[in-house]
Amino acid sequence: MNYRVPLCPYPFVNETIGSLLLRTTVANHHLSPHNLLSQRIALKDENTISRVLGDYQLFSEMIDKFGFPKSWLQQFIHRNGPTSKSPYHYMGMDVSAFLVRPDLMAYCPLCLMEEAYWRQEWLFKPYSSCLKHGLMLIENCPFCQTELSSTRAQICICQKCHQDLRHAPRCSIKTDATARFMNILKSGDQNQLREFNHLWRTLNNFKFPADLVTNQTSRDMIIELYFINRDYAATYMAALVNERIAFEHPRIQLLSFLIAEKPLKNFAELVLMRCITPTSPSPCRTNDPAISAAQAAIALGIGKRHLNTLLHQQVLKYQLLSNKHKTILVSDIENLLCYPLSYVPAIVYDYTKLEVTIDEAAHILETNSEVIRSLIKCRWLEAQKYKISSHLKTLICPHSLSSFQNQYILVGTLAHLWHVNSTNLAEKLAELHIFPIAGPHIDGVLTTLF
Ligand SMILES: [Zn+2]
Ligand SMILES: [Zn+2]
Repeated sequence: MNYRVPLCPYPFVNETIGSLLLRTTVANHHLSPHNLLSQRIALKDENTISRVLGDYQLFSEMIDKFGFPKSWLQQFIHRNGPTSKSPYHYMGMDVSAFLVRPDLMAYCPLCLMEEAYWRQEWLFKPYSSCLKHGLMLIENCPFCQTELSSTRAQICICQKCHQDLRHAPRCSIKTDATARFMNILKSGDQNQLREFNHLWRTLNNFKFPADLVTNQTSRDMIIELYFINRDYAATYMAALVNERIAFEHPRIQLLSFLIAEKPLKNFAELVLMRCITPTSPSPCRTNDPAISAAQAAIALGIGKRHLNTLLHQQVLKYQLLSNKHKTILVSDIENLLCYPLSYVPAIVYDYTKLEVTIDEAAHILETNSEVIRSLIKCRWLEAQKYKISSHLKTLICPHSLSSFQNQYILVGTLAHLWHVNSTNLAEKLAELHIFPIAGPHIDGVLTTLF
């Protein structure tokens, strides 16, 4: 039996499918899209509607069942793949699902006042301001803050408080970042869109210091500057980080950038160069989350091996999760960041063993075996040759290694602790009248020793 919904409105060029469905509901005097669709198909619950609005295949079936015009499918911004994480196809580009919000949720009150339908651009989170009116897009009902349901009774009326969404307070805002996003889509440059997406996602995890409007302005400013002049962007972002310095160490604030892909990681380093270096842990910390060991190593700017040494020495405490993964409290990481010398690797050697091999010593001192050999040659480390299964092997006395660790430090270890480049660290320290006691130009040790 062929069924046709009696009245099917003509779509606006950039109208979303949810908007079309809602207008059809109103035109045919149904209470909601759920009510309309349940005439012909069994719908489990209200959520089914949002599923239908995100699934091209499901909606194609609706077209047949309800006799909606086939041309409606052109309005559908659909996923380019089978899963909820598959990107959406829009303007010939693959837009990450992370950048897409549910239909009928965010809007510009003035646009809605001009024509009461939902615009496709509003589906994209980076479209955060209206390019036509220069207004901040509103997410959720501005009167009762409820998330706007895709199965409400009318386009412009909140399903909970029944207020008219068009009468929301209007907030003017700069539109540069939104314009950039749209220009990238128009350009067809998938690589640039990918970079934009990474920046957007990472900024999403960054804690901005102010209220919603100011934060959106700051976020848009960073996005815009990031693509124009990365140094300016870093200076701008460093000012934001410094504002929250009493709450979190800069390396913790920027952790989402530090763990991201290379361009963002490099950007975080630029920001860090412009941040204040705290000399004590954050006095106003409000919570103390635990992060993974891998993230802790990145926050501390050290390698995994170095981190394991710290955990082994119990310089850094950890909790073991049921899945055997280690987590570390952010406050403990901040302590180490603020008092780096307190975690100079001290005694890591297992004293139940009698001697240490050159490779083990290199691991403990975080250097290579050639440096260890030069330290032995110049008598900074005490070693003896032993005959082990017909081979002659050089072994280091553990007490010699331990007293070395307590008295001296290699320039590479210092650089690691201070998060600086080791290349000219010795020259810089010399300007402060701190001179090495051994090194390539002093006694032939392959690295500089303090
Ligand atoms: Zn508008
Ligand atoms: Zn409301």
